[in-house]
Amino acid sequence: MNANNISGYSLKISVLSRLMEEKKMDKKLLEILVCPVCKAEVKLVKEEIICQKCGRIYPIKNGIPIMLEKEAKIDE
Ligand SMILES: [Zn+2]
Repeated sequence: MNANNISGYSLKISVLSRLMEEKKMDKKLLEILVCPVCKAEVKLVKEEIICQKCGRIYPIKNGIPIMLEKEAKIDE
Protein backbone atom coordinates (compact mmCIF):
# COMPACT_ATOMS: atom_id res chain seq x y z
CA MET A 1 0.00 0.00 0.00
CA ASN A 2 1.45 3.40 -0.91
CA ALA A 3 0.81 6.83 0.60
CA ASN A 4 -1.83 7.76 -1.97
CA ASN A 5 -3.98 4.77 -1.09
CA ILE A 6 -3.80 5.56 2.61
CA SER A 7 -4.90 9.19 2.25
CA GLY A 8 -7.73 8.17 -0.07
CA TYR A 9 -8.90 5.64 2.49
CA SER A 10 -8.94 8.07 5.42
CA LEU A 11 -10.78 10.63 3.32
CA LYS A 12 -13.50 8.07 2.66
CA ILE A 13 -13.79 7.27 6.36
CA SER A 14 -14.21 10.92 7.35
CA VAL A 15 -16.91 11.46 4.73
CA LEU A 16 -18.74 8.37 5.96
CA SER A 17 -18.61 9.33 9.61
CA ARG A 18 -19.86 12.81 8.79
CA LEU A 19 -22.80 11.34 6.88
CA MET A 20 -23.58 9.02 9.79
CA GLU A 21 -23.58 11.93 12.22
CA GLU A 22 -26.05 13.84 10.08
CA LYS A 23 -28.32 10.79 10.05
CA LYS A 24 -28.05 10.23 13.80
CA MET A 25 -31.08 12.30 14.72
CA ASP A 26 -33.31 10.57 12.21
CA LYS A 27 -32.21 7.16 13.41
CA LYS A 28 -32.87 8.01 17.06
CA LEU A 29 -36.27 9.36 16.12
CA LEU A 30 -37.13 6.25 14.13
CA GLU A 31 -36.20 4.03 17.06
CA ILE A 32 -38.91 5.56 19.20
CA LEU A 33 -41.53 5.66 16.47
CA VAL A 34 -43.93 2.77 16.12
CA CYS A 35 -47.02 2.23 14.03
CA PRO A 36 -50.01 3.51 16.04
CA VAL A 37 -52.19 0.74 14.62
CA CYS A 38 -50.15 -2.41 15.22
CA LYS A 39 -47.26 -1.04 17.38
CA ALA A 40 -44.72 -2.51 14.97
CA GLU A 41 -41.40 -0.95 14.00
CA VAL A 42 -41.37 1.47 11.11
CA LYS A 43 -38.74 2.27 8.52
CA LEU A 44 -37.89 5.42 6.64
CA VAL A 45 -38.20 5.11 2.88
CA LYS A 46 -37.46 8.27 0.93
CA GLU A 47 -39.77 10.89 2.45
CA GLU A 48 -42.21 8.50 4.06
CA ILE A 49 -42.41 6.19 7.04
CA ILE A 50 -43.56 2.67 6.34
CA CYS A 51 -44.83 0.17 8.90
CA GLN A 52 -42.95 -3.12 8.63
CA LYS A 53 -46.01 -5.10 9.66
CA CYS A 54 -49.19 -3.65 8.15
CA GLY A 55 -47.56 -1.65 5.35
CA ARG A 56 -49.27 1.63 6.23
CA ILE A 57 -47.40 4.64 4.89
CA TYR A 58 -47.16 7.70 7.13
CA PRO A 59 -46.28 11.06 5.60
CA ILE A 60 -43.56 13.42 6.80
CA LYS A 61 -44.66 17.04 6.80
CA ASN A 62 -42.06 19.78 7.34
CA GLY A 63 -39.70 17.16 8.74
CA ILE A 64 -42.22 15.91 11.27
CA PRO A 65 -43.51 12.35 10.98
CA ILE A 66 -47.30 12.26 11.07
CA MET A 67 -48.00 9.05 12.94
CA LEU A 68 -51.77 9.12 12.71
CA GLU A 69 -53.94 6.31 11.44
CA LYS A 70 -56.20 8.68 9.51
CA GLU A 71 -53.21 10.26 7.74
CA ALA A 72 -51.77 6.90 6.70
CA LYS A 73 -52.03 5.43 3.23
CA ILE A 74 -52.20 1.71 2.67
CA ASP A 75 -50.15 0.49 -0.24
CA GLU A 76 -51.73 -2.63 -1.69
ZN1 LIG B 1 -48.68 -1.09 11.30
